[in-house]
Amino acid sequence: MSRARARMIQHDLEARGIHDPRVLGAMRRLPREEFLPAGRRALPEEVYGDAALPIGRGQTLSQPYIVGAMTQALGLADEDRVLEVGTGTGYQTAVLASIAAEVWTVERDPVLAEEAHARLDRLGFANVRYLIGDGTKGWPEGAPYDAILVTAGGPSVPAALKSQLGPGGRLVVPVGSRSLQELIRISRQDDGREAEPEVLMECRFVPLVGAEGWSPTWSERLRA
Ligand code: SAH
Repeated sequence: MSRARARMIQHDLEARGIHDPRVLGAMRRLPREEFLPAGRRALPEEVYGDAALPIGRGQTLSQPYIVGAMTQALGLADEDRVLEVGTGTGYQTAVLASIAAEVWTVERDPVLAEEAHARLDRLGFANVRYLIGDGTKGWPEGAPYDAILVTAGGPSVPAALKSQLGPGGRLVVPVGSRSLQELIRISRQDDGREAEPEVLMECRFVPLVGAEGWSPTWSERLRA
């Protein structure tokens, strides 16, 4: 696994513009194989390959490059408090929690949320709080946040998330259709005003389902 992980860092991250030493350091230390669902085995080439991995319940563990690019785009500092929408396996959560002071993470699927919570406890992450619910409403109790990351794609930028971003804060969110999105960054200046949104790249995430996201399809409804 460690060989495959070193290859991932060099070939899929550094060679493609991920240079923040904190992001590379966190991803160099984290055992990605621990984030697969219980009982699901995979070869090192798969776990550390350049693709998203299915994790069951219609969801995926994001491609390493995307995790690196999104984390780098947040420009995290040690003392930051981060809100994450879409805990999934908890891999991205662990990358954030390796760098920032606190991570508040929200997941709508209770089964995934509980598995991720148990997994991150086992790996020793004590600076993460977990909520089962609709993350398009944010998590007001922890606001204002220094950074907000959404790891599912919605039709627009949820207003609740913008309102929970503090001065100097950065919000990174995939916005577009159910199948293809652009990764958008919105920054709040120190005077509280919102800067022009920036388009960072094209991306494909699973749908953000909720009040300020997509309505659930029948299969999404039956799974809940
Ligand atoms: N970052 C994750 C990838 C998760 S896939 C990882 O590294 O594993 C996106 C996740 O967003 C899915 O688990 C999905 O259930 C969740 N999701 C979708 N809509 C949501 C919402 N409104 N609130 C919270 N979580 C949501």
